[in-house]
Amino acid sequence: MSEHAPIDQAVAQAAEAAPLWAQASIEVRATLLRGLASALEANKEALIPLADEETHLGAVRLGGEIARTAYQLRGFAEHLEQGAAHTVVIAEAIAGTPPAGRPPLARVLRPLGPVAMFSASNFPFAFSVLGGDTASALAAGCPVVVKAHSGHPRLSRAVFAIAAGVLAAQGLPEGLLTLVDKASRGAGGYLVQHPQIAAVAFTGSYQGGTALWKLANERPRPIPFFGELGSINPLIALPQALERDSAALAHTLASSMTLGCGQFCTSPGVIVLLEGSASDGFIGQLRDALAPIQPHPMLTAGMRDGFEQASATVAANAATLLASAGNAAAPGPRLYEASAAAFIAKPALREEMFGPAALIVKAKGLGEIEQVLGAIGGTLTTTLWGANDDTPANRALVRAAENISGRVLFAGVPTGVAVCAAQQHGGPWPSSTAPQTTSVGYAALERFLRPVALQDAPAWALQP
Ligand code: NAP
Repeated sequence: MSEHAPIDQAVAQAAEAAPLWAQASIEVRATLLRGLASALEANKEALIPLADEETHLGAVRLGGEIARTAYQLRGFAEHLEQGAAHTVVIAEAIAGTPPAGRPPLARVLRPLGPVAMFSASNFPFAFSVLGGDTASALAAGCPVVVKAHSGHPRLSRAVFAIAAGVLAAQGLPEGLLTLVDKASRGAGGYLVQHPQIAAVAFTGSYQGGTALWKLANERPRPIPFFGELGSINPLIALPQALERDSAALAHTLASSMTLGCGQFCTSPGVIVLLEGSASDGFIGQLRDALAPIQPHPMLTAGMRDGFEQASATVAANAATLLASAGNAAAPGPRLYEASAAAFIAKPALREEMFGPAALIVKAKGLGEIEQVLGAIGGTLTTTLWGANDDTPANRALVRAAENISGRVLFAGVPTGVAVCAAQQHGGPWPSSTAPQTTSVGYAALERFLRPVALQDAPAWALQP
């Protein structure tokens, strides 16, 4: 059998289910989402050990991730019930000639069609088979073809089997959710270019995401590609914050950097400080807080290699403050330091180190910090500690942070992304290939809806 046959079959099933699902009532869609949430929770005792075997993320974290994934599925159900997917904007007819005169118009939202979803490796539940991309696409009325991540194949199959059981129990077509596993890179590309695929959702590496984004755009009819490709998440700690409680801040930052062995898309990878004694003291405290931490093993051997390579590239261009080797299974934390001028001049210092590492960047003034942010260009988050006073300088810093980030934090750490309607998880390239959209939070559903203006339409045509 050709390698493409299972993909053709999965996409054909999705395409067949698409018209029915596009017209399914809010109640039917919400019932499915809630059914999937409950089934996931009901099977957590079996799923957590399986996920731990394949990802090493630990039972506590994985249990929390199941809770988040179920919360997210139910949240999209509620969001649907509040009318999000069926907003209709009406412009009544106005008699007379244009531009004031016009026919009646109704702007409705229609589902795009089958979505190809590439699971992420680092969130085996929340960004995988039943994760946020799947939940938002199903909520929008689009079937989903999941490309399973090779880092957790057995878990993907187990979660998929649970979901298939829910579809069958609710009398819904199998094609609403199909799974493509053991697919080669070529087969992944084939899926993106399949004529019946209408959009792609992706979370992963810059290299993989860029390759698939290009394929989506090289189709005879290009399709939307919602990719999250990497982020270095600068955290700016100004003396005003450090002088208050630098020891506690150093511990908080060390925990955030090493959480999940640093395998978070929002992991703080660049710490920007102003030259001076407050910053020097903080660097010492951060190094001391990091040194005893031994993170758990990384998700895959490939990621461990990738981390070693990325940190070696930074080490070749910066001073090493801490380079804990770790053990055979897991790297130890790493901390490097460079000047703002070097960071701005050398692209190698702006590469993502996906793992428990960060680069300290020392700037001479706030203006240079703005240049550091400008050099980064695109990131999921920027954190500003000590910029709360309403001053022209802080306003400029906040604007600079907004220019490059989807989320700007004034306290706390960027790891931990709340699922709610106000969330924005994206940002300029490469943090997202579609910076006007989010992949976390209820606005994620809007990615899979396309506006259509109905002019002089009969009332029934406005229905979903
Ligand atoms: P990845 O290598 O980009 O893989 C993600 C998905 O895309 C997988 O299904 C992979 O297939 C597929 N893929 C990758 N390259 C492809 C290509 N050229 N053509 C077709 N399909 C392709 O990402 P990953 O394995 O999750 O992690 C690797 C690196 O990505 C990490 O070290 C880290 O730097 C980064 N990462 C970033 C984020 C983020 O949130 N931005 C999250 C996770 C990882 P396979 O299953 O066959 O590998």
